[in-house]
Amino acid sequence: MTSIPSKNLWIRRQQCPCGDWKCYIAYEGGAEEASPAPEELVNTEKASPEAIVAPYVGMLFKSDDDAFEYYGKFARKNGFSVRKERSRLSPQLGVYKRDFVCHRSGFAPAKKSNGGHQRDRKSVRCGCDAKMHLSKEIVEGVSQWFVAQFSNVHNHELLEDDQVRLLPAYRKINEAAQERILLLSKAGFPVNRIVKMLELEKGIQGGQMPYMERDVRNFVQNCKKVVQENEAMLSEKRENDILELVRACKAMKEADDGFVYDFTMDEHNNVANIAWSYGVSVNAYSMFNDVVYFDTPYRSIMYGLLIGAWFGIDNYGRTIFFGCVLLQDETRRSFSWALQTFVRFMGGRYPQTIVTDLDPELRDAVRRELPGTKHVISICNIMSKVPSWFSLPLGSRYEEFKSEFDALYHMDNAEEFELRWNQMISAFGLGADKHIDLLYYVHASWALSYIKVFFLARIEKTAYSKSTDAFLKGIFNVQTCLPRFFEQVGVAVNIQHQARQETQHVYLKTCIPIEEQARSILTPFAFSALQRELLQAMEYATSEMPNGSYIVRHFKRMDGERLVIWLPEEEQIHCSCKEFEFSGILCRHALRVFIAKNYFELPERYYLNRWRRECSLLLDADHNNQSVDDEWFQEYQSLAETLFAKSSRTKERSDYVRGELTKELTRILSEVRNLPETDGVTMDSTVSPTSRNLPGTNGVATDTSVSPTS
Ligand SMILES: [Zn+2]
Ligand SMILES: [Zn+2]
Ligand SMILES: [Zn+2]
Repeated sequence: MTSIPSKNLWIRRQQCPCGDWKCYIAYEGGAEEASPAPEELVNTEKASPEAIVAPYVGMLFKSDDDAFEYYGKFARKNGFSVRKERSRLSPQLGVYKRDFVCHRSGFAPAKKSNGGHQRDRKSVRCGCDAKMHLSKEIVEGVSQWFVAQFSNVHNHELLEDDQVRLLPAYRKINEAAQERILLLSKAGFPVNRIVKMLELEKGIQGGQMPYMERDVRNFVQNCKKVVQENEAMLSEKRENDILELVRACKAMKEADDGFVYDFTMDEHNNVANIAWSYGVSVNAYSMFNDVVYFDTPYRSIMYGLLIGAWFGIDNYGRTIFFGCVLLQDETRRSFSWALQTFVRFMGGRYPQTIVTDLDPELRDAVRRELPGTKHVISICNIMSKVPSWFSLPLGSRYEEFKSEFDALYHMDNAEEFELRWNQMISAFGLGADKHIDLLYYVHASWALSYIKVFFLARIEKTAYSKSTDAFLKGIFNVQTCLPRFFEQVGVAVNIQHQARQETQHVYLKTCIPIEEQARSILTPFAFSALQRELLQAMEYATSEMPNGSYIVRHFKRMDGERLVIWLPEEEQIHCSCKEFEFSGILCRHALRVFIAKNYFELPERYYLNRWRRECSLLLDADHNNQSVDDEWFQEYQSLAETLFAKSSRTKERSDYVRGELTKELTRILSEVRNLPETDGVTMDSTVSPTSRNLPGTNGVATDTSVSPTS
């Protein structure tokens, strides 16, 4: 039962951003972490009603282990437990007799009186004679065990169901609980508090756990012993692995000039923090640096390291991996280093907006290191903690609270937000709740009424956070040690990059010319979003105000009235819903005004570069080769299409074309093979662009010619 995790497990960070270890964060949706395994709950054990037939003389078992298991189950149902007693061996048969007895059989051996400090625990043994004796026989060459003697006569009281589970034989701490106990114990909690916390987390009443405080104490002590014994070995492995990781980075840098990495050393000259990124990521960042998501969800028990990963979103709405960092702790100092290093990797370009979790140290680090960057706290991250925080204190009112909280998140007026927030606090009696305090303290970083002016490119959506999570889980599923982890990140980034191919096609749904124009310019992802707004715009009415601005309101619903300001000289439009500033997609209200003003095409400025088809990751921003390629590729494609259409009319035609094409293509191919492979210009940027050399030591970019974008 006592085992410490020998693999490198990456577990979700469980400490609460409020700073208190007592708050248990269960993740909504992450079922494997969230709910206790059913067998862990005591009451479900009673649920299996099948009665177990009492053993009888002559009953047969395939093995003695089967027999013991059966007897154990029978005992459990009947209020006692069993243990193995004697066995008899013969040279021909091996073990051929086994005695199993009631746990209270026999008498406690007389204590030796020399060791004075031995605890005098009262023995439960009272000479009970309940037993099951087995004998082995060989029938037609196959061995089997039969019950030779059985007695269910006890000289003591049998236990009730809720007592029997406390017999040592039935007490078990499952793996998930073991991990949690170790974490809490590491954080310095005494065993009695750990047990209380576990009960609270599982919503189990005191004393109803399938194990006792004593078991937890034994488990913790045994683990400490194992850890101490293995510490020297483990720390050597940790050091070797992290050095190997550094060596792997060095080798990668030699093979791929676009690769960047950096690390810090601690006072003992050991590697403390390490970060790296790939040429493809740096290249992608040069196009999609408007918004960055920095996620730090997992920690390795074995290495004691926290993983942080930077992600972005491309024009097709897909997650881009920007880089990754392993940190030795969660202090502001470590986070600061991580943020500085990231900006350095990315050629000194600061993101416009950064999205993170609630971690207070990380918040401070962002404020300090990225002063010009807007900081947003991921609503998905907040929502994943809300049930842990409020479902217990609010009980049956939790659902009501949750929908009120959701409404608050979506509100678009800051003053109304403040008012309604206060109403919510008094309605639910949360005035003294520290998590409500924490949420309010940072509300300007997550409530839509405040963050709608920051550009987020739709990464606040649940689908996005699911995709980053899937990316990380994909890495963690396979690896066991750090060097393998490093390889796995590289593989995942490659797969992600290779998968960038446009496949979707979105059909037109209106007869509005704007829709067709948008489809030809935007990627399917961005176009779908605009199309939804365009369809919605049909349900809105506009009325022009004397000053030239517009009031736009839904034809039925009373709320959600918007003010749209139109500046004709600059062809600029501003809607009070701020959707364009937030996602880069025009809202239904602005679209409605454009339609009212007889616009059949939208001004160019409303097709952001970041959402255009032509802004492709396969396109190296430094060269125009790709656009030239695109042109001749299209020419070639339409030529080929015509050729196939014309040739498929008759068999003669198609035979002719087939023969000629094969001949010609083979000739061209062999010519191409004879030409030099490079002319100094990178054509294929699926390999990182070699032209983007990043000067500096350790492969770290020191280019500071670009200043923060905001
Ligand atoms: Zn907390
Ligand atoms: Zn007994
Ligand atoms: Zn609007």
